[in-house]
Amino acid sequence: MKETNFNTKTVHFQTKEMARNASKAKPIYQTSAFVFSDLDDMESFYEGEKEYLYTRYSNPNTDDLGKGVALLEEAEDGVATSSGMSAILVGILAVASQGDHIIASDDLYGGTYQLFAKELPNFGINVSFVSFKDLDNVKKAITNKSILLYTESITNPLLRVEKLEEVIQLAKAHNIKTMIDNTFATPYLLQPATLGADLVVHSATKYIGGHSDVTAGVLVGEQSLVNKAKSKVISLGCNLSPFEGWLACRGMKTLSVRMERQSANAQALAEALLLYPDVAHVYYPEFVSNKGNGAMVSIDLAVDVNVEQFFRSLGWIKIAPTLAGVETTVSYPIRTSHRTIPDELRNELGIGKQLIRISVGIEDEHDIISAFRQAIDLSKNDSL
Ligand SMILES: *Cc1c(COP(=O)(O)O)cnc(C)c1O
Repeated sequence: MKETNFNTKTVHFQTKEMARNASKAKPIYQTSAFVFSDLDDMESFYEGEKEYLYTRYSNPNTDDLGKGVALLEEAEDGVATSSGMSAILVGILAVASQGDHIIASDDLYGGTYQLFAKELPNFGINVSFVSFKDLDNVKKAITNKSILLYTESITNPLLRVEKLEEVIQLAKAHNIKTMIDNTFATPYLLQPATLGADLVVHSATKYIGGHSDVTAGVLVGEQSLVNKAKSKVISLGCNLSPFEGWLACRGMKTLSVRMERQSANAQALAEALLLYPDVAHVYYPEFVSNKGNGAMVSIDLAVDVNVEQFFRSLGWIKIAPTLAGVETTVSYPIRTSHRTIPDELRNELGIGKQLIRISVGIEDEHDIISAFRQAIDLSKNDSL
């Protein structure tokens, strides 16, 4: 499949069925283990002739997801895990051990911040959080213990587009590895491994799955690092279940069409809201790729718009502490994804009380725009 183009790959990433009369849809290997006809047959697993032994080690449905995302990211290999968080964890543990130092962007997803600030120090891995807006900050933070730069290709919730080439170049100049969370951009828009990133991570719960019905993660990258991550998945037991792998794979087949529509809708919504006087600021990436700029839009409502009332006035648009489904949803970062971030840092980052994060879906563009217009109009303090 390597020689085909992106949209073709998203539909045909799954490995061929070995069995006779293979089914058109991939079967779900809902099994904890695989059986063997005799001891020689079982031995053949250890000799590398048979692929599967025990689902915690690997399973056809989860392999499809790991290898499928690797194909789309143009990375050497990949591994699927139980969640985006566990994909981040095994990626970190593939690179870092006790005494090592990581430099991470200060505007990370809240869960990642929590993992880095609260859990990694218990493993003797220390993380410095610095603003990646000016890479001089990053450079200054590098010590002889530094082994990894970690950032997100599009940040959450302010949707800053990371200067990945420069980050990767800086890391390489210091013989440091890079790991990029590409959840918001997806490989449809951006492929950090092709720019030289060593590891790329996804919460497949988001756009890869795309239907808000599965929690999953994927780590892809250079073969030796992915091999290490695979052995961490086995030891830590953070493998993905076969059914979840199957669901995520089914979702991934429509990644291109979803992203195309969702990015176009988001662009239209961002442009419409920009003209709206009760929206103080619109955060939408200026340029991610020539295929589009992603499907997330954040806004600061003007101070005279009542946020509580706004959330009650959205009609068919639901409040959900997630993103990337086919339905348009909204979230309130200071009470969800960024709840655990200290107030001081949150204010410094510009994540305030009037900030709303919008995950734009596949509905009709005009319906999305009018729903937001109406909610804002119904929530102005002078109209209450
Ligand atoms: C959701 C998310 C994660 C965590 O993924 P889970 O699947 O919820 O564990 C990590 N990074 C980003 C950018 C996310 O949006």
